[in-house]
Amino acid sequence: MESVTATEPATDAAAKANGAPADGDSFEVHRPTDGSTIRSITIDPPAEVAEVVARVRASQPEWEAIGFAGRRRWLERLRDWILDHQDELDDRMQEETGKVRADAALEAFYLLDAINFWCDRGPAFLADESVTPHVPLLRHRRAKIVHRPYPVAGIISPWNFPLILSLGDGIPALVAGCALVIKPSEFTPLTLMELVRAWKEDLGAPDVFDVVNGMGETGGALVDGCDFIQFTGSERTGKIVMKRAADTLTPISLELGGKDPMIVTADADIDRAANAAAFGGLLNTGQICLSVERVYVEEPVYDEFVAKLQKNVESLRQGADGRTYSAEVGAMTSPNQSAIVSDHVEDAREKGARVLTGGRRKDQPGDWYEPTVIADVDHSMKVMRDETFGPVIPVMKVRDTDEAVRMANDTSYGLGGAVFAGDAESGERIARRIEAGTVAVNDLFTTNYSVLGLPMGGWKSSGIGYRHGAVGIRKFCRSESITVPRFRQPKREFLWFPYSARQRGLVRRLYRLLNARGLRNRLGI
Ligand code: NAD
Repeated sequence: MESVTATEPATDAAAKANGAPADGDSFEVHRPTDGSTIRSITIDPPAEVAEVVARVRASQPEWEAIGFAGRRRWLERLRDWILDHQDELDDRMQEETGKVRADAALEAFYLLDAINFWCDRGPAFLADESVTPHVPLLRHRRAKIVHRPYPVAGIISPWNFPLILSLGDGIPALVAGCALVIKPSEFTPLTLMELVRAWKEDLGAPDVFDVVNGMGETGGALVDGCDFIQFTGSERTGKIVMKRAADTLTPISLELGGKDPMIVTADADIDRAANAAAFGGLLNTGQICLSVERVYVEEPVYDEFVAKLQKNVESLRQGADGRTYSAEVGAMTSPNQSAIVSDHVEDAREKGARVLTGGRRKDQPGDWYEPTVIADVDHSMKVMRDETFGPVIPVMKVRDTDEAVRMANDTSYGLGGAVFAGDAESGERIARRIEAGTVAVNDLFTTNYSVLGLPMGGWKSSGIGYRHGAVGIRKFCRSESITVPRFRQPKREFLWFPYSARQRGLVRRLYRLLNARGLRNRLGI
């Protein structure tokens, strides 16, 4: 549901400070690069959300009935539309998020790959599964598991990857046969709205995919109306969504925050590790749930690592690069988040950490926080314990691998991690000790996230459930277990009514024969 009520030029940057303010029935979307207003968007109240859900629900049976091949045709048309309009999509993405061009382009790349992946693999992931009854006496029946879609899947998404974390999850839902309604973040709804418009108007696709806009009230109404909810966002909101879903017993999957550690051992390739820390900590201006949020480096290579990381980060360019690919680090998308970043850096500074580069908000229109490296941190500091979600890389010296692993696991989160070690085997041994849903050895989360066959999900406070892998599409389905006879059937089964002492005695002897171990025991002698 889209309603544009105003378009304003880029003025009054400081006053509007990109806060997605709402005036009751609408909210404004801003350019993080200068704070100016892009558009005002009408909020969908609960009654409107219910109507949208009811409408796509009515179209879902036909969507399910056209089968994988029919759904694939529509999704491939969407893929081709994205290919033909990627520049415009990237422009819009940059405008509403403040990403640099290379980061904005990642979103369409992901969707293109994901459409092909789920269309290719979805049918196998959701194929009927035969089960051989473990009781021999029941083998006269065929037993199978059938995966059937929830009629309407709802997705509630955050602002840091407006397409990957909304439609990225929506693609497997659509492939499975669900209808789909997405509530994007109020900070960044525009690129997704453009894709929904294209689905409806340019492609004339079935009415099974829509968007609703707003904040908590709209999101809550979506939870009430849908049959399954995929939520990606903060731990705080995730708990609210989980409580709301309890009212209707709606199943949910939660992808929440992280505080991902990177461990660097003394025998690692320090150049590669330092380059990886810079990329993994600052990609998307550090606004990634799987970012490198803390680095633990063994004592003998600590100084070398810190010097190389500092040099790398100091060489990065920050700015609004349009279509030129001439900057690595962009603006902060949400003003609430840069306040948290400032707070973490100041807390570390006050407690004795050394801010080697960056460490302040830029004094210019928009919302810019400098790429920052902090050395000599410890776990008394917020920057090592709470999610920073910004362009900050804190580095801590550790005695050995045991201390590194202990520190890495000293967190309520468990989303991901990275290990840089001298060889793959020792790296894997360390990875297996980290309490997190995904760990890369001598590499980063970007690789793990790109292997769509690998489930991604958080342990501990980082979430419940997974995206990607077989589970990433099966979660949008209910499994139905069906048994059917193989042969002609008697009028009455042996175990049915009426009971008699002789029949029950036989049943008892039969259970003994099947379940006891040892011939004498089975025969009861
Ligand atoms: P957020 O929790 O503030 O908002 C997420 C979404 O929830 C938004 O669309 C918001 O409008 C909606 N929402 C707010 N209140 C709601 C309510 N009461 N009921 C229903 N919906 C409601 O998160 P954010 O600030 O947009 O995103 C940043 C957070 O997301 C960080 O914590 C980050 O780690 C996390 N994140 C996690 C992953 C992951 O895959 N694990 C990925 C990206 C971001």
